[in-house]
Amino acid sequence: MPRKKRDRRLLAPPAIKGLSVYGPKNRSEQVVLFFEEYETIKLLDYENMTQEEAAVCMEVSRPTLTRIYESARNKVAQSMVEGKDLVIRGGNFHFDENWFYCNNCNAKFNRFVETDNNCPVCNLSEIISLNEFYSDAN
Ligand SMILES: [Zn+2]
Repeated sequence: MPRKKRDRRLLAPPAIKGLSVYGPKNRSEQVVLFFEEYETIKLLDYENMTQEEAAVCMEVSRPTLTRIYESARNKVAQSMVEGKDLVIRGGNFHFDENWFYCNNCNAKFNRFVETDNNCPVCNLSEIISLNEFYSDAN
C-alpha cells in the first residue's frame, strides 16, 4: 500500500489561481503547480528564506523541501518555455489558519468569527471558507 504523503503546511492561500500565457500559447495543455510547490517559490524566491527556514515553515524535511522546490521550478520553466498556462491546484497541504473569502468584494481574511456571518470589509454575508473550497478542489 502506498504511504500517504504527509500534508505540507501553508501559511495562506495564493492570491491567484494561476498565470496565463501572453502571446502564442499551447492551448491544449496546462501545467499544474501544486499548492505546496507554489509555497516553496513564495518562501524561497519571494520572501528570500533559506531552504532550512522554509522546511521548518512547511513542516517538512530539508530534502523534501528541496524536492518540492525543484519540481516547482521545473513546472514554471515548462510553462514559460512551452507556452502553457500555469494553474495552481491540488497537492498535499493544509492551511495554517482558517481562511475566508467574500464573494461580493473579493476580500480574503483569516481573523473572522463565523457567528458574525458578515464580511468585515463590505458587511455582506457572502462568505465562503477557502479551506473547504481548496480541499474540495483537491
Ligand atoms: Zn465583502
